[in-house]
Amino acid sequence: MRIIILELKDIAEIRADFPLLSKKVYNKPLVYFDNGATTQKPQCVLDAIQEVFTSYNGNIHRGIHAMSDMTSEAYENARERVRSFINAARKEEVIFTSGTTGSINSVAFSFGERYVGPGDEIIISNLEHHANIVPWQMMCQRKGASLRIIPVNDDGEILIDEFVKLLSPRTRLVSVTQASNALGTIVPVGEIIRIAHSAGIPVLVDGAQGVQHDVVDVSELDCDFYAFSGHKIYGPTGIGILYGKQKWLEELPPYQGGGDMVEKVTFEKTTYNELPFKFEAGTMNFAGAIGLARALDYVLETGRKDIAAREKMLLDYATGKLAEIRPLKIYGNSKNKISTISFLIDGIHQYDTGTILDKQGIAVRTGTHCAQPVMDRFGIDGTVRISMCFYNTLEEIDTLCTGIEKVIRMFS
Ligand code: PMP
Repeated sequence: MRIIILELKDIAEIRADFPLLSKKVYNKPLVYFDNGATTQKPQCVLDAIQEVFTSYNGNIHRGIHAMSDMTSEAYENARERVRSFINAARKEEVIFTSGTTGSINSVAFSFGERYVGPGDEIIISNLEHHANIVPWQMMCQRKGASLRIIPVNDDGEILIDEFVKLLSPRTRLVSVTQASNALGTIVPVGEIIRIAHSAGIPVLVDGAQGVQHDVVDVSELDCDFYAFSGHKIYGPTGIGILYGKQKWLEELPPYQGGGDMVEKVTFEKTTYNELPFKFEAGTMNFAGAIGLARALDYVLETGRKDIAAREKMLLDYATGKLAEIRPLKIYGNSKNKISTISFLIDGIHQYDTGTILDKQGIAVRTGTHCAQPVMDRFGIDGTVRISMCFYNTLEEIDTLCTGIEKVIRMFS
């Protein structure tokens, strides 16, 4: 009980940082449980973005004028803050992209061009978001390669023994999510990386649902590539990160051509810019990058370990409360989970549940969560998903449970 009282005191301060959390929907206080789709933004991030356009806006790396210089400096400073946040060895290993989807497409294209040929194989898992399936499928179609899939058990956990069996001399790359957006499963990516590396195979980690929940250290993980989205970690939309080890980024051809990614252009031949600019064609989303860096600072100020502990408390509380609701079944019972819970109520379609909850001011996600293959694995066409983060409260979980009871009463 003491922990809960302390929690509620701290949480009032935290929630005050996020203007949208005090909004009302249908005249009811908003209960925002769709953080896996996108998170709300603290005021400091909104201020940082506004400051770009009110104080120093100029295109980056281009002009000799003061506005361009100031923006370039802020952009490169943002890159350094991202580097430090994920503990990359070098700033040059941090590429700004449009998001996780952009990052994975970029690697799938560039890696495919350089290293993949007919008969080769790429390993992904049954848990993947479409963003970590479709780019590889497209690349495999272009190159005559194929996808191999790591299966999961009934709790939604990756079967490591099956992964080991999939490795072959034709495996070119392994690409796995750090946590499932659909079931919440935390994937043992460290173990997967160690196993893949012992066979000389590089690994991409889709960190879209990982980076916001705990400390991520790419040097310690030793992943070859790491991708994440700004908008899922309290930053703006349209910005994301591709981390890549320097040796790979040096060798891979660029994904897109255009301004700033070049060293010298003639009609006969173009030579490319050095890292990281080789992978940043055209005017980048510099306001987004600066906003993202501010969001990462905010996460550090809040404390990543504290965030992880709070979210674990929310997960345990919500899991316990939902388990008490009789005709409700939770999908994804991994021992290690992010604060995401997928469920179905017996006999009630997920869209009906989601719609009735929405009318009570409770925002949940329904459907396949852009992860159709894992829905197929469980023989369902979707779930209701709550994805919580550190600004959510125990009280909101109680409101959700009352809302679910109402749904059940309406259908009984
Ligand atoms: N991977 C995972 C695990 C995700 O949850 C998401 C977003 N739901 C993505 C990739 C794609 O992220 P974005 O749409 O920001 O590119």
